[in-house]
Amino acid sequence: MACCLIGCGSNQGARREQLDRAIELLGVMPGITMRAVSRHRETRPIGGPPDQAPFLNGACLIDTELGPRELLGVLAAVENTLHRDRTERWGPRTLDLDILLYDQLVLDNEVVDGSALTIPHPRMTTRRFVLEPAVEIAPDLRHPLSRCSLTDLLDNISQAHLHVAIVGAPGSGAAEVADAVADATLARLVQAPAALPWRRSTELPDGGTSDAAWSTALSACARPLERATWPDDPHGTVADYWLGSHLVAAEDTLSPAALGRYAAEHMAVTAKTVTPHVAIMLRASPETLADRAADSSSTIDAGMQANHGADLVRLQDLLLTRLRCGKQAGDRGPHAVVVVAADDLSRAIDEAIAAVEAAG
Ligand code: ATP
Ligand code: CA
Ligand code: CA
Ligand code: CA
Repeated sequence: MACCLIGCGSNQGARREQLDRAIELLGVMPGITMRAVSRHRETRPIGGPPDQAPFLNGACLIDTELGPRELLGVLAAVENTLHRDRTERWGPRTLDLDILLYDQLVLDNEVVDGSALTIPHPRMTTRRFVLEPAVEIAPDLRHPLSRCSLTDLLDNISQAHLHVAIVGAPGSGAAEVADAVADATLARLVQAPAALPWRRSTELPDGGTSDAAWSTALSACARPLERATWPDDPHGTVADYWLGSHLVAAEDTLSPAALGRYAAEHMAVTAKTVTPHVAIMLRASPETLADRAADSSSTIDAGMQANHGADLVRLQDLLLTRLRCGKQAGDRGPHAVVVVAADDLSRAIDEAIAAVEAAG
């Protein structure tokens, strides 16, 4: 028997009646027992076409004998019963039912029968319209990736000054996305004062960079993030980098001895800085990373462009793994992480803006 958290939304037709009917239908399904239902709350639409009607959002908690796939099928059947139209992404809908949590199960984009399933729901950690009703019925339920309770996740996006970091390998487009997100949300923009001194480890002995290069880049990038000078204005800060990337890149590049020295310094320096509440992780294809890195001479040396995609993808995977593992002992990672496909930059920008606006 699994305990599942389901998110519910409607912004078309008789919203309240449709949500009530959906809860009723779910409750009478074989293999599903309804445990708790939140109240519905009106929320403003995030992302999607302009001028959409406001939503009613809620959440419910069920016990189920159904597997995640079967459950998704049941949710789709209930959506169809209530005349869900699926023509436009993030478009108006009579009913939307999402699997937010399924026990402590983690599924990453697993494709079966042509549709991909991701659990926990990949965009839940920055969505106030999801977390508020969820906390009402299951405050202590744990999110298996961040290892935060739902209450912690809601508190995390409720900071007076939200700090968002756009994270990615060189060539992911972090600078462009950060700039656009800051513009759209009126946040302060912090741009990396120095490039990541990451190099292919096979390229040169000792990673091809001296300890001094790593220290210089670290202290330059830490300075704008120092706690002592951090502002508190309500529009927040968007940075186009995350200091954790420096450690990940060092682990991928430096010799064990050099890494030992660097890691100690990294700990000391980052302890004086603010940790981002939200990370938007840009994920691009090898081809895109190689192309964009080749265009930006500031991040990668000219001689290293050929066949660079595979190395950049490895760095990207390492960043993703590190970010996803959440708040482990001693890890000062962001509690909310949203992964955005970055091959199409204008789409990535829209998704990143939606992820940040959902917190407001
Ligand atoms: P969002 O996912 O950002 O809330 P949405 O709910 O509008 O957007 P839909 O069009 O309802 O998106 O769903 C798109 C696809 O997402 C569905 O075909 C479904 O297979 C897939 N999907 C993947 N993971 C989940 C999940 N955890 N819950 C529900 N659907 C999921
Ligand atoms: Ca039942
Ligand atoms: Ca949804
Ligand atoms: Ca959905």
